Amino acid sequence: MVKVVIVGAGGRMGKALIRAVVAKEDAELFGAVDLPNHSDLGKDAGEFAGCGEQNVRLTDNLADALEGADVLIDFTFHKAVPNNVKIAAGKLCAVVIGTTGLTPEETEVVRKESFKIPIVWAPNMSVGVNLLFALTKKVAEILGPEFDAEIVEMHHRNKKDAPSGTAMRIAESLAEGRKRQLDDVACYGRKGITGERPVGEIGIHTLRGGDVIGDHTVIFAGDSERFELTHKASNRDVFAKGAVFATTWISDKKPRIYDMQDILGLN
Ligand code: NAD
Repeated sequence: MVKVVIVGAGGRMGKALIRAVVAKEDAELFGAVDLPNHSDLGKDAGEFAGCGEQNVRLTDNLADALEGADVLIDFTFHKAVPNNVKIAAGKLCAVVIGTTGLTPEETEVVRKESFKIPIVWAPNMSVGVNLLFALTKKVAEILGPEFDAEIVEMHHRNKKDAPSGTAMRIAESLAEGRKRQLDDVACYGRKGITGERPVGEIGIHTLRGGDVIGDHTVIFAGDSERFELTHKASNRDVFAKGAVFATTWISDKKPRIYDMQDILGLN
């Protein structure tokens, strides 16, 4: 039985994660953590997540909640991740990170801590999206830069970072397939007299609105034909299930950073 603590447990993904841990036979909801001002603090995690009483109260003390835990799942905010990972590493507790939008400095902290503990870190935990990463790389290799590549993503109006971590990962897969550095070829939106589109450019476009869970499309536009790969998530449970699956996978792994591609055998 893997003992799981969720940080960000009071958020949209947090509640889906609580339900997914409770539903998984070989995982146990061991702790639920959020900010001190969260309106559900002190309440039973199962109750506010909609899966019945679990005898786990939402707390704001991560260090205490991790005492005796096996794995921490973090779906919070980019600024919170370095400290959360440091606390987990101090207790030799493995971590599954779904939080997106980390700065290079925040990313570096996570990398350093991965010398001490195994970490699964993926901008998108769904099987379909991870297949999309792998297919995008393959198609980019086959079609080459003569096919203009554009990425379009759409998420709900409350999402805090843009482009989505998933869109950035798709863009990296595309650049990798073409053996280019993403920073040299990325174009984030367009406005004004932009001139002709340079060969090899990768366009990345963000839409926000409504309650869209997460749509991603990669367009390869050639002469006389257009090839598109699309993934649409219709429910947050798809990410939660992937993250909770990762908690049982990681429990016997050596310290380093893994991603969902490793778990699904797509690397
Ligand atoms: P949300 O705002 O609904 O929830 C985030 C929760 O984290 C909130 O309850 C907030 O109070 C809490 N929080 C913030 N800082 C904290 C801290 N220092 N300590 C404890 N709790 C803290 O957001 P959400 O929609 O659930 O998304 C959370 C993150 O997960 C985002 O970065 C989002 O992009 C990412 N996400 C990843 C995937 C994936 O598959 N990897 C899928 C969906 C969302």
